[in-house]
Amino acid sequence: MSTNNAGFNTRAVHAGQAFEPRTGAVVPPLHFSSTYAQDGIGGLRDGYEYGRGGNPTRDALQEQLAALEGGTHAFSFSSGLAAEDSLIRAVARSGDHIVLGNDAYGGTYRLINRVLGEWGIGNTPVDMSNLEAVSAAVDENKTRIVWVETPSNPMMKITDIEALAKIAHDAGALLVVDNTFASPYLQTPLALGADVVVHSTTKYIGGHSDVVGGAIVVKDAELAEKIGFVQFAVGAVSGPMDAFLTTRGLKTLGVRMDRHSENAQAVAEWLQGRPEVEAVLYPGLPSHPGHELAAKQMKKFGGMISVQFKGGEAAARKVAESTTVFTLAESLGGIESLMNYPSEMTHASVKGTELAVPVNLIRLSCGIEDVEDLIADLAQAISNISG
Ligand SMILES: *Cc1c(COP(=O)(O)O)cnc(C)c1O
Repeated sequence: MSTNNAGFNTRAVHAGQAFEPRTGAVVPPLHFSSTYAQDGIGGLRDGYEYGRGGNPTRDALQEQLAALEGGTHAFSFSSGLAAEDSLIRAVARSGDHIVLGNDAYGGTYRLINRVLGEWGIGNTPVDMSNLEAVSAAVDENKTRIVWVETPSNPMMKITDIEALAKIAHDAGALLVVDNTFASPYLQTPLALGADVVVHSTTKYIGGHSDVVGGAIVVKDAELAEKIGFVQFAVGAVSGPMDAFLTTRGLKTLGVRMDRHSENAQAVAEWLQGRPEVEAVLYPGLPSHPGHELAAKQMKKFGGMISVQFKGGEAAARKVAESTTVFTLAESLGGIESLMNYPSEMTHASVKGTELAVPVNLIRLSCGIEDVEDLIADLAQAISNISG
């Protein structure tokens, strides 16, 4: 069926997932073959030649991703950082410059600053939610990419994608949105003017904490050709099993995000009333500075919350190490609730830089469990903070 104009959940279930014609198998088969028989030299069947260049299971995922982000082309990679690396190599050269959020994912900053920086690509971290600061940081002669996460990780700042696209385009740069936290169910940056969406599909898209992957989605054929070339020439593609698991997860993204958002809203409201809590960073709270903007550009507010404690580092560490339903672990976006202490875990690589995360902050990835159990777990963990 053509699903282009169908609703989100219909596209999630059906895009790229046509049944197998020989047997009628409803789930398309998982193709492990690394190579494809040719009908005479150069006689390819459906364009398939060699697994790095093309694989039907990966293609099915790419079609599904493009349909959900409202793009024309999607590219699937072995990790989110592999996707980011291939994207930057496709569009930036030595001497070029990237403006990125000063609370970008630590691994993104490490890649841009410490790996690509060595190849002569410059960067300026800036508070993306401050559009004047972004305009000042963009250099029309050099800036090739403006890179934003909204909501950002872990400070949960909200940035106006439409306004940022204008700033980037006026300077001749591309706007790249890391849409990992929102997922395409809650936010579709390409429709708001962004040129590229990147994902760590490891998180909400895979959704079950059982596969590492990344993706790039675009809506421009020329850009797609450049990225497709790097995907093929560098080869950081997702394997067939990874692509299959990601596709399976992606089919239920909508129902999962509804529950993640509902649970996080209840947890955030509960946390806000606790005397031990200094601040709850969740865009679903009317007190959040980005609340109205988030309500405009997102369908719901997502499953991620950051919390800061009045008792400083000691209190944050105590809570992080006292939960039993929330598992202390890096990563996010799975069906199980996770707890993270960013300054020592996910964001240890930016310690001592201007991207450093406050030491009294913990980040929660609210899963799809019963919300009463999540709140009870946090209540007992917070009760361990000594006065
Ligand atoms: C995890 C993450 C990445 C990196 O993705 P990997 O799959 O771990 O390589 C990039 N951006 C954000 C926002 C992330 O959470």
